[in-house]
Amino acid sequence: MIDSYKDKGARKKLVEELKLKGINDAGVLAAIGKVPRHFFFSKTFHAHAYIDKAFPIGEGQTISQPYTVAYQTQMLQVEKNDKILEIGTGSGYQAAILIEMGANVFTIERHEKLHKSACVLLDKLNYKYTAKCGDGTKGWASNAPFDKIIVTAGAPVLPQDLIDQLKIGGIMIIPVGNEKTQQMFSIIKKSNKDFEKIALDSFSFVPLVGESGW
Ligand code: SAM
Repeated sequence: MIDSYKDKGARKKLVEELKLKGINDAGVLAAIGKVPRHFFFSKTFHAHAYIDKAFPIGEGQTISQPYTVAYQTQMLQVEKNDKILEIGTGSGYQAAILIEMGANVFTIERHEKLHKSACVLLDKLNYKYTAKCGDGTKGWASNAPFDKIIVTAGAPVLPQDLIDQLKIGGIMIIPVGNEKTQQMFSIIKKSNKDFEKIALDSFSFVPLVGESGW
């Protein structure tokens, strides 16, 4: 896997584009500038890696648009050593961004093929993470609680298990809506019974499929 000057230059441009679109978290911008997004594409589609668009990764799924990754990560307010659960590993790119920011990442993917290929790539890149294949709407009780949870597929409702597995004071970023458009929400857990729900911008994700999904 080669990260050429051309790739590095394309990443710099992408970071500038994200700044113009309102991303201002220095840690997020540094991670996007560092992780070679083209490694998460097959060679044939290398040219698409630094365009600010989602792209197919097989199994009817997508690697999220860089702006969406940057937006969700910024809203997550990542701190070094945060224990973060990601629902929807997909290509592994979002996980790599969180790991670069110093997070301890747990990630769940429901498609076996995507789970396996993301793990092969993240291992090749020497990233440390914990991953499994399964229904992420149920969370990962044996590793809970989490400081932060990021859901990278569109949910019909807020999955109760994910709220339960969030630490008090923890943040979950999750798109909720119908199968076409979802509103991003920031969920801040106030106590074991209470959370604050802040509505953010609108996005369009592939569906979250599972017990508390579609
Ligand atoms: N974060 C990914 C990346 O960086 O490439 C992009 C994720 S893609 C937009 C959404 C992913 O969520 C898909 O790979 C899909 O299979 C997965 N997914 C959907 N429902 C899920 C569930 N219940 N549990 C785990 N993964 C799920």
